[in-house]
Amino acid sequence: MTSEHASPTRLVYLDHSATTPVRPEVLSVMMPYFAQAFGNASSIHRWGREARVAVETAREKVAYLLGAEPSEIIFTSGGTEADNLALRSTAYRLRSKGNHIITSAVEHHAILHTCEALEKEGFEVTYLPVDKYGMVSVERVREAIRPETILISVMHGQNEVGTIQPIEEIGSLAREKGILFHTDAVQSAGKVPLKVKDMDIDMATISSHKLYGPKGVGALYVRKGVRIAPQITGGSHERGRRAGTENVAGIVGFGEACYLAEREMAEESKRLSDLRDRLINGILEKIPDTVLNGHPTKRLPHNVNVSFKYVEGESILLNLDRVGVAASSGSACTSGSLEPSHVLLAMGIPHELAHGSIRMTLGRSNTVEDIDYVLEVLPPIVARLREMSPFSAKAN
Ligand SMILES: *Cc1c(COP(=O)(O)O)cnc(C)c1O
Repeated sequence: MTSEHASPTRLVYLDHSATTPVRPEVLSVMMPYFAQAFGNASSIHRWGREARVAVETAREKVAYLLGAEPSEIIFTSGGTEADNLALRSTAYRLRSKGNHIITSAVEHHAILHTCEALEKEGFEVTYLPVDKYGMVSVERVREAIRPETILISVMHGQNEVGTIQPIEEIGSLAREKGILFHTDAVQSAGKVPLKVKDMDIDMATISSHKLYGPKGVGALYVRKGVRIAPQITGGSHERGRRAGTENVAGIVGFGEACYLAEREMAEESKRLSDLRDRLINGILEKIPDTVLNGHPTKRLPHNVNVSFKYVEGESILLNLDRVGVAASSGSACTSGSLEPSHVLLAMGIPHELAHGSIRMTLGRSNTVEDIDYVLEVLPPIVARLREMSPFSAKAN
């Protein structure tokens, strides 16, 4: 083995938009619910009551993060299921009223692929274009509205490029037109303020494992008065809106993670955005022919997405991994495929630049030293790859 393969001097995890570790405080509150307090929350005996209290306490904590009522929270198996529930429930329930859905071209696949499935069932979907920053325009939403529009679903914080969408304006437009508004807030929840009552949001998706809770649990916020047609049928769990024995330990951990995120949001987001800007500025200064993807200011505090001309993002990732740095190209679901990210393409970024993009998403464990380490190892990696590139400036 060459020295390049020696163990890295530092491990830096910069893929927090793919998933986050469970916080120790979260893990410790979950532990009792695996064994001692193992009851089924639907049972009437003391084991059941203990589990019920735990689930309802967690529901209050999730509601606290969103500024919602506990009764407006439906627990699901994660963000994907919550997105499916919002879209499918609305589509099937309001089918007699209309068959048109408006969404954006830069949504997560949990939304896009669900919309594509609904199209096969006879629904019509408008995929709104975005500007070069990945931003949806409220005017475009207004123009897309038809008499038969039943739902608008536009995400809050974009998961690949970090752009924060104008969901308050979209929400108030939807409210004015009497159309339901859903937002996928998986990436923004716990990072930027998201108070559903101030934003005219009818439904919002969040996911536990993106905010330091366990995987396999999430929630759909549903405003009081909005009916939900269950997509998983069975018992009368979650007030008949989502059947299945509650994942008690997971829900307890999710609740705690939401509570801690809300309590620490202002301070942690400031810290993250400082680190983010240090990383962005450092990269742009040290590495020529590099562009920032996503909005320069209306941006999630933990997201960095850059394109390096003349190199493949995948090659950078492999080289970063060798020196202990974890990043991603596009979304976790698309990396490994040869198609560039649908998000970057929707933003009008040319194929070559889209192929040369990497995403680094910061989190609680990251320090200034981590950022400086990346700024030390990344420039030589890009320089070396460009030396070998048939597309490099020199070769042209
Ligand atoms: C991760 C993610 C999801 C899916 O959530 P899971 O809990 O992993 O199913 C949905 N939307 C966005 C924006 C995400 O980042």
